[in-house]
Amino acid sequence: MVLAQLGGSITRALQQMSNATVIDEKVLNDCLNEINRALLQSDVQFELVRDMRTNIKKIVNLQDLAAGHNKRKIIQQAVFNELCKMLDPGKSSFVPKKGKTSVVMFVGLQGSGKTTTCTKYAHYYQKKGWKPALVCADTFRAGAFDQLKQNATKAKTPFYGSYMESDPVKIAVEGVERFKEENRDLIIVDTSGRHKQEAALFEEMRQVSEATNPDLVIFVMDSSIGQAAFDQAQAFKQSVAVGAVIITKMDGHAKGGGSLSAVAATKSPVIFIGTGEHMDEFEVFEVKPFVSRLLGMGDLSGFVDKIHDIVPMDKQPELLQKLSEGFTLRIMYEQFQNMLSMGPMSQVLSMLPGFSSELMPKGQEKESQAKVKRYMTIMDSMTNEELDSSNPKLINESRMMRIARGSGRLVREVLDMMEEYKRLAKLWSKMKGLKIPKKGDMSAL
Ligand code: GDP
Repeated sequence: MVLAQLGGSITRALQQMSNATVIDEKVLNDCLNEINRALLQSDVQFELVRDMRTNIKKIVNLQDLAAGHNKRKIIQQAVFNELCKMLDPGKSSFVPKKGKTSVVMFVGLQGSGKTTTCTKYAHYYQKKGWKPALVCADTFRAGAFDQLKQNATKAKTPFYGSYMESDPVKIAVEGVERFKEENRDLIIVDTSGRHKQEAALFEEMRQVSEATNPDLVIFVMDSSIGQAAFDQAQAFKQSVAVGAVIITKMDGHAKGGGSLSAVAATKSPVIFIGTGEHMDEFEVFEVKPFVSRLLGMGDLSGFVDKIHDIVPMDKQPELLQKLSEGFTLRIMYEQFQNMLSMGPMSQVLSMLPGFSSELMPKGQEKESQAKVKRYMTIMDSMTNEELDSSNPKLINESRMMRIARGSGRLVREVLDMMEEYKRLAKLWSKMKGLKIPKKGDMSAL
C-alpha cells in the first residue's frame, strides 16, 4: 500500500530522533519537520498538519519536562495520539446485525469503485455468516448490471437487477422487497454514479433512499483525490444521510493520508478501505490499529481477525504452537516459502509490520521475490544444526564464509540475511504467548 511510504517516513523521522544522543529543541523540530513533510506529501490539509505540530509541541514542551522523563517515549506517544486524532471523526457507524434485515445503500461518483466495493462488502459479511444480497439500481451506466452480476456470481451472492427497466427507484424497491421476503439479512443497493457531482445524481440518490429507507448509506470515494475528499464528502452528506465512508484504491495513490484525514474532518466514519481490485483486498478501518500499523507498531487485533478469517479452525492450534516456538532459520525458510506461494500464513503475517509488508512491498514484488529466493538459496547451504538453532551467534564468521561459498553468494549477502533473521526473530518474540481469543473478544490481547 502506498500509505506504507507515509508510515515509513514518519517512522524514520522518529527513529532519527531516537538515535540522537540528546533530544533538544533542534532534534524535535527536525523530527516534526520530517513528519510534516511526509503528511503534506500525502496531501493532508496544511491546517491539520500545522495544528498537529502545535499540539505535539504543547504536549512535549521540552523545557518543562523534568530530567527523568523519557522524552522519546513522550514524543512518540504524542505523534501517535495526534495521528489518531487526525483520523478520528468522533463518530461511529451503524453496524448491521446478523439475522435482522438491514438495507445498506451505496452512493458515489462513477469510477470510484462503488460496484466493486458493494461486492467486497457483501463478500466480507458473507464470510462472517451473514446472508447478503445485491440489488443493482444503477440504470445510468451501461454494463453496470452485468458487472454486478458477474461479481455477485463470483462471490456466490444472490443479486437482482434488470436490463429493461430504466427507473432505478422501481428496481431498488423490487429488489429490497424480494430479498426481505427471502429473509436475507444484508440487502445492499448499488446506485448510479455520475462523472461529476450534479443535481440529477443527488436527486436520484434522494429518491432511492426515500423509497428503500436504508439503515445505512455508504459513500464510496476514490483515495486519489486526496484532501479534495473533504468537499466531495460534504456534498454527498448534504444530499443524503451518509452514515459511513469507504475509501478505495488505497493501493495505488500517494494521497491516501489526505483523503482519510479529510473525510474524518467531515465527521464521517471511514469503515473500510479498498486496497486492490480483488474481492479480498478490502480491510476494516479502525483508527488506532491503523495508526499502529502505519507506524510499524503492529496491529494485534487485525492479526487475530486475520487468523480467524483465513486459518482453518483445525489449523489454528498448529499455528499457535509454531508461534510459541523460538524463531529459527528453518521457520524463516518456511515462512518465505509461504510468502512466495501467498499461503494463508503469509497473509496473517502481513498484518505484522516487518513481515511480508516490508519484505514484499507492493509494487516491488519482483525485486522482493528475488531477495527472498536469494535468502532461501543461502539457507539451503546451512546444516540442520544451523537451521534449527534460534541463536544467531552460532553462525560465526567461519560458518558464514562456508555458507557463502556453498551457496555461491557473497559473505555480505549472508550477513544481510542474518540481519533480516534477527529483525524477524524480534517480531516473532512479540507474538510469543499470544492467545487467540474468540472472535470479537480482544480483552485477552
Ligand atoms: P463504479 O463506477 O463506481 O461502480 O466503479 P467500479 O466498481 O466499476 O470500479 C472502477 C475501477 O476501479 C475498476 O477497474 C475496479 O476494478 C477498480 N477498483 C475498485 N476498487 C479498487 C481498489 O481498492 N483498488 C484498485 N486498485 N482498484 C479498484
